[in-house]
Amino acid sequence: MSEALLPSGMVLDIRGWCLADQEALLDQKDDAQALTLRMAELGTIRCLEPGPYGFGANAKPSWSEVSIDDIQAANVLIRAITDDGIFRFDRSCDSCGRKKKLEIAMKDVEIISATEEGKQHLASKQPIVRPVMTAKGPAEVDLRILRGQHLPEIAKRGRKDQKLLLRIQHCLSIQSIRFLDSSKPMTSLREILEFWGLPGQPWALGRTVKETLEQAGGGPDLYADWTCDNVFCSGRDQQTLLPLDHRFYGLEMLLSSSRRSKPSSGADSPAAPA
Ligand SMILES: [Zn+2]
Repeated sequence: MSEALLPSGMVLDIRGWCLADQEALLDQKDDAQALTLRMAELGTIRCLEPGPYGFGANAKPSWSEVSIDDIQAANVLIRAITDDGIFRFDRSCDSCGRKKKLEIAMKDVEIISATEEGKQHLASKQPIVRPVMTAKGPAEVDLRILRGQHLPEIAKRGRKDQKLLLRIQHCLSIQSIRFLDSSKPMTSLREILEFWGLPGQPWALGRTVKETLEQAGGGPDLYADWTCDNVFCSGRDQQTLLPLDHRFYGLEMLLSSSRRSKPSSGADSPAAPA
């Protein structure tokens, strides 16, 4: 048994992914949002302590209720006990473009707790309210932490337009915008998406939404620091967001039949899978 303490305080009994889990994902390989949810389901044996959620202990969690922050953290903790627990992927230097193979030990990824306000919100579903200035004057936004139930919507819209993905996530987090001049509140996603893109919409609106939800929900710290090996770039520190996509789940390994691995010369050979 392996215990995973998630940002909300929920505790899961988890197991490492096995080959059959990987194969179950091949038809979802292009959809990172669906992968994340599916892999959390597969690696979870049962819920030991539901934290703020309404489902009981000793059962499978009802994933539609679970925050996306918890789902991502579960992925990192399950990956940490799968294979050798090291996520390998390539990154290009921002400055010279040279590729570097990064190796990140998943056990070193920090899991940040949700705040008390965030935990209460997950339990009560009462929105987190913040005052904001908008292109239409002062207002209050009612915010919610995104949950498993929102992943299909994010995936569907993200497929159509990858650039819009961030805007969609932010706008889906807004339940309503209430204007202080008592004009009609905005509640539909369509309206809010349109409103977000209005000319003159202040940056502070985006910052408030993003920072409030990041702090409230917690989650894994998915940023890794690294340095380019090119001597002309020496000491150039860079930050990279860990891609929780098909590479994270080792699907590349199953799919890349055309690119055979070269015989290894020893020193930098990848560890043999257990
Ligand atoms: Zn470089």
